[in-house]
Amino acid sequence: MSDVLVQLGEKGAAAVLNLTRESLDKTIAKSGKDTAVEFPETNYYFPLINALLNIEVKKLGDLSLALKEIESLSKGVATKTGLVIPYLGGILNKGVSTLLCEEILAGLAVMNKEHPKNGIGFIPDKILRSLGLQLVDGRIAGIAVILGPAKDEDAAVSLIRDFQSKSIVSLLVGNINGKTLQKQLENKGIELGLDNYIVPLGEDYLSAIYAVNFAVRAPLIYGGFKPGQWEGIAEYIRNRVPAFVLLLGHVDEVIVATGLGALAFGLPIITDLEVPQLGKIETTLFEALVTEKDYKKLPSKCLLTRGIKVKMAQVAVPVPYAAAFEGERVRKEQLQVEFGGKASSAFEFLSSKKENEVDDGKIEIIGPDIDALAAGVKSLPLAIIVDVYGRKMQKDFEPILERQIHRFVNYAMGLMHVGQRDMDWIRISQDAFAKGFRLKHIGVILHAMLHQEYSAIVDKIQVKLYTKQEDVDRLLGGAKKVFDERDERISGMTDESVDTYYSCLLCQSFAPNHVCIVTPERLGLCGAYSWLDAKASFEITPTGPNQPIAKGATLDSKLGQWENVNEFVKQKSNKSIDKVSMYSLMESPQSSCGCFECILAIIPEVNGVMIVHRDFSGMTPSGMSFTTLAGSVGGGVQTPGFLGVGKLYILSKKFISAEGGLERLVWMPKELKELLGDKLKRRAQEIGQPDLLEKIADETVATSSDELLAFLEKVKHPALNLEPLM
Ligand code: SF4
Ligand code: ZN
Repeated sequence: MSDVLVQLGEKGAAAVLNLTRESLDKTIAKSGKDTAVEFPETNYYFPLINALLNIEVKKLGDLSLALKEIESLSKGVATKTGLVIPYLGGILNKGVSTLLCEEILAGLAVMNKEHPKNGIGFIPDKILRSLGLQLVDGRIAGIAVILGPAKDEDAAVSLIRDFQSKSIVSLLVGNINGKTLQKQLENKGIELGLDNYIVPLGEDYLSAIYAVNFAVRAPLIYGGFKPGQWEGIAEYIRNRVPAFVLLLGHVDEVIVATGLGALAFGLPIITDLEVPQLGKIETTLFEALVTEKDYKKLPSKCLLTRGIKVKMAQVAVPVPYAAAFEGERVRKEQLQVEFGGKASSAFEFLSSKKENEVDDGKIEIIGPDIDALAAGVKSLPLAIIVDVYGRKMQKDFEPILERQIHRFVNYAMGLMHVGQRDMDWIRISQDAFAKGFRLKHIGVILHAMLHQEYSAIVDKIQVKLYTKQEDVDRLLGGAKKVFDERDERISGMTDESVDTYYSCLLCQSFAPNHVCIVTPERLGLCGAYSWLDAKASFEITPTGPNQPIAKGATLDSKLGQWENVNEFVKQKSNKSIDKVSMYSLMESPQSSCGCFECILAIIPEVNGVMIVHRDFSGMTPSGMSFTTLAGSVGGGVQTPGFLGVGKLYILSKKFISAEGGLERLVWMPKELKELLGDKLKRRAQEIGQPDLLEKIADETVATSSDELLAFLEKVKHPALNLEPLM
């Protein structure tokens, strides 16, 4: 490494260490060492300190302990967890110490209400959990930690648009004389937010630490690593967290010291500045420090340096097209034309046809196109009819393909799609229209994307778009009949009615021992894979993550254990799990990866079970919030009494049936109750407990086990009379 970098790094590290010592001393002198200090909504305390030093920071005094360790590390002396990095003459130790110090400084800033500042600041655990699936299925290809603003506003927009179209999430940090990338983008009317793959962390450079202590939680949440196992944790980040640092416009000694810390975790640095270059080092996969001054080439240079491969959709439409544009809305002021919602009648319908009935690539508009509208008219009726033919196409796959219309249409910049079937709502923005987007492009998108993602089951696709009221009305009747038939077929499907279940191993790229078993009556814990989805996905990629498992001999029908399922799980969990019950929370329950929609947990005091979903941030009667509970479930291990599940599993007849099923459920957040609404009510009626819903407590009546017990006794909840759980 060049001497200049080493000197700058050493200087920066020393400065940060001094500042940390001073700030901490001052704060302790003022508030006392027993004052509580924490980051919001995390189960990992100060995540970096926890992960590397195995110290659970709860009060200021704990930070002094951490600082002692950091001081020895910065001198190249191993910490109690054995942390010391030998490479490059030990300079990376300075980097890691700097990051650890910065986590302390950030914690103090939160305590003093100086953070967050123009950004989200600390990233809660639940965001990492919600991103899990998008990372494993490729909708997010990587994470850019961008320090500093772009050279001008236009460059900022083109840079970010390029990252978005390559499915990269950008985390924005820092400012030069008050100029931030965030402002540059806002000035240009770019919509920020996680849904749009652009997340400002904060306008000072210290906020970069929030990217680091976000990344370091992935091995803890998904990888099954324990705090203190720093080698495995660093290795995990290097191999499984596709992040890199993009440094724009400004560097100083503290940034160099921080950058050395990033390098220690294998995150390379790409910059538009003239700096000494650094090739591959022991901790990085490829080059460590690279300059690229041409903004047009920057994004691909970043991906190349981190070794990120992007599958880009090839779709011939006049607007950018990528998963990053999925969450973008089209507001009223930007509206060119809309279909469905409250504005007009609209629906979408995909079905399979005979070979000679489908003319591949044919797109027909029957009725006026959107450029034929009279001034001031902003809506049209619309029926999107997609006909597919495929040698391996099955009727069962129709609803799965149809559901993709939502995603495919949304990927186009300037298009918004909400809902499905006859509840859809589509908006096209003025920008998209001005760029030449017309109705036929919806057909172009569906044709291209269905071929691209489903070529194994569809060979021919044609699309018809009807915009006359009488056509839409006439066609809707027939479609509705099919929608009903589909619903009946799915609700009639039971675990007993099939002899094959499917695996899902998608999350193994993050949780290497985790196996989901998906059955007709129990979907994957992320909520995204039903049995039919898994079946279709197997047809599409026979060697992919969804493999058929012929159940084999039944070992225990109450618990839901089958010979071949156990054998499969044993093999694919790297021998860490040898049996799994599909219907039990208590005996050999399924493992969890980390991206579960809900957590089930026993409450022994009331002989019952509670469920909480990811969006609920309050306290639960188990004495833990979702975040804390989630910390004890995950990493691909079985934890009897605790279980990650998909929302819809609650409605299944097989919902913890080994423990008595729905009758066991004593508490759930009000919002979740409302979300499941009538369907939950119907389930309660089916089991002969029509008033069960009112007997299930929520946060408005109980947030502790005492309150819960009192409530359950008052309403005579059936769980109180079930056989003992433990
Ligand atoms: Fe991950 Fe399970 Fe969902 Fe598959 S079904 S994506 S393994 S959580
Ligand atoms: Zn998962």
